[in-house]
Amino acid sequence: MTPLELYIHIPFCVKKCLYCDFLSGVFDEKMQRRYVAALCTEIKYMASKHADASVTTIYVGGGTPSWLSEDLMDAIMTTIKQSFKVDPLAEISVECNPGTLSSEKLNVYRSIGINRLSIGLQSANDDELKELGRIHDYNRFLHTFDLVRKAGFDNVNVDVMTGLPHQTIQKLEKTLGAVTMLRPEHISAYSLIIEKGTPFYEKYKFDAVKQQAGMPTEDLPTDEEAYKLYKFTMQYLENKGYKRYEISNYAKNGKVCRHNIGYWDRVPYLGLGLGAASLFDNVRSSNIRDIYQYVETSEAIADGKAIQTEFSSPYYASEEKLSKKDAMEEFMFLGLRKIDGVARSDFQNMFGIDIDAIYGPIITALRNQDFMDAKEGRLFLTDIGIDVSNQVLAKFLLD
Ligand code: SF4
Repeated sequence: MTPLELYIHIPFCVKKCLYCDFLSGVFDEKMQRRYVAALCTEIKYMASKHADASVTTIYVGGGTPSWLSEDLMDAIMTTIKQSFKVDPLAEISVECNPGTLSSEKLNVYRSIGINRLSIGLQSANDDELKELGRIHDYNRFLHTFDLVRKAGFDNVNVDVMTGLPHQTIQKLEKTLGAVTMLRPEHISAYSLIIEKGTPFYEKYKFDAVKQQAGMPTEDLPTDEEAYKLYKFTMQYLENKGYKRYEISNYAKNGKVCRHNIGYWDRVPYLGLGLGAASLFDNVRSSNIRDIYQYVETSEAIADGKAIQTEFSSPYYASEEKLSKKDAMEEFMFLGLRKIDGVARSDFQNMFGIDIDAIYGPIITALRNQDFMDAKEGRLFLTDIGIDVSNQVLAKFLLD
């Protein structure tokens, strides 16, 4: 059976954070119910096209999936399990935000097979949380974490952010200390990116340009300070027994996120829900991004109406068949994000050609510059290579 990962998008948040450009917004419960019904129709529709696949991981992301009432989450999971063949050992993750969970909700999660939670903390400093426009403070996060443990979840991720306005090593240390004291199995540490179209962009756009140019900044850390924050995070977490397995992800006792490893290994996945992206049979596709168009399309399908579309699914807004060259580039870009890099044998099996026949001169040049190394049939970036990963990965673009 072909392994398959599912990503389920829940585009609802209590309030929009000031830095966020994800496809999410504030909608009332009526719209949430209508959306989940539409999503369940899409799940059944796509499952009918993938009858021979075995679902190995499910990731419910957003948005704030934990904002949905428990009966809606139950409806989604039940539909998936009735429609797809789900491996009994599948990793099933849900993204949660502090203040949107209760012990009743968590008990329902356990009863429907959810076995991994990812909590968006971002910072243990209340002034930073306020600046980010988050709905919670640190105490609320502590309460949520306590509920999660009491409900019996033993595979929990906590998200933290570096590179925040006015963030110092001391403030970051407080966040990392507070998180590691709770001993979550997994920590994701991403740098703040100032995205166009957000209130943060309006507030910090000039600083962001200065940061990129290596110039002195006013509110954001300078490029050099941001690098120090990133390095400090890495060293702090490794000292606390968290093994870095991808540029921004750390795990204890091997509790890596199997779903994300699948992305970096290019395991086929279906993205279901608003704007969700898929990779299947070397075709990259992406769903409709307008929520009204999405639910109306799904409601028409549920009513048995034929939908005119140029794509292979009525839910798609774009679809692109990757060439062998595109797929090779992706294999390198995604695989080299992992600390243990890529296996030469995987490249050979996937593309029927030795990796050196395509990338030999580039690999040699990068190894000579100490940006890359090789061991036991694998190629991976060194610490120095990871520090400049954007430039290094760009070398794997083929003409
Ligand atoms: S909770 Fe997450 S998805 Fe929602 S607005 Fe904040 S950052 Fe964006």
